[in-house]
Amino acid sequence: MSTLAIDIGGTKFSMAVFDSDRMVARETRATDRTGGREWMLEQILAVARGWEDRFRFERCGIGFGGPVEFSRQRVALSTHVGGWLDFPLPAWVERELRIPAVMDNDANVGALGEAVFGAGAGCDPLFYMTLSTGIGGGIVIGGRIYRGADSWAGEIGHLTIRPEGRQCLCGAYGCLERCCSGLWLERDFGRPARELLADPEFVRRYVVDLALGLKACIMLLNPARIVIGGGIAKAGEALFAPLRQELRRQITDWSRARIEVVPAALGDDSVLYGALALAREIPLQ
Ligand SMILES: [Zn+2]
Repeated sequence: MSTLAIDIGGTKFSMAVFDSDRMVARETRATDRTGGREWMLEQILAVARGWEDRFRFERCGIGFGGPVEFSRQRVALSTHVGGWLDFPLPAWVERELRIPAVMDNDANVGALGEAVFGAGAGCDPLFYMTLSTGIGGGIVIGGRIYRGADSWAGEIGHLTIRPEGRQCLCGAYGCLERCCSGLWLERDFGRPARELLADPEFVRRYVVDLALGLKACIMLLNPARIVIGGGIAKAGEALFAPLRQELRRQITDWSRARIEVVPAALGDDSVLYGALALAREIPLQ
């Protein structure tokens, strides 16, 4: 019996099949933003049906790249792709593929993936941040995603870093996501984040804002480890060494909170492994 894992993002989506803990099939495709929800659903069905003669799916875990109302198992909206407003994606999977499904936002799911299988294994509590097109965060305490009272915990991307800063897609000004995400770096500086971060002088300024966001996380949570995933985290030590140094400078003097910030170990697969871990929480008859 196999688990189907789905990771829906703004620029690409990935699906995988797990046999126990082992990934036995994987497929990634570019997201057609103009295609909206209907296009994505067709793609998911086509990939899953293509696997059905080789694998018998028992359950499905989903990481969605946008706000999710976990208690109702509905997508709240997608800021990158249209048509998802209030859509019950797991119920759709259950109807089309006849397997139980569970969904959370991709940062929460990525956090669980790194906590169970990746760079956060054995670290409790764990904070995970995805640093790519957008910025998301997830908290794992005692091996489970901490969602807060209304399932909206961990949203580090919309902490205000620069009150006098520019307007974010959420409507507020100077959010961490507005200052540090790949989408805005490229729009503000006319070059992709990968190129910008090759310049140590740029990195020195960039980590000041990034550290302001992570400082809030360290002061509030005192995590055993912070794991950062997403495309920008692939800059490696050229980013992480100055970031740790800047955090040490910013964290309040008397705080002995550890500053342990590392890149994700599962690379592009944090969310897929997290979807596997999340799906295992579904009680089976
Ligand atoms: Zn915002």
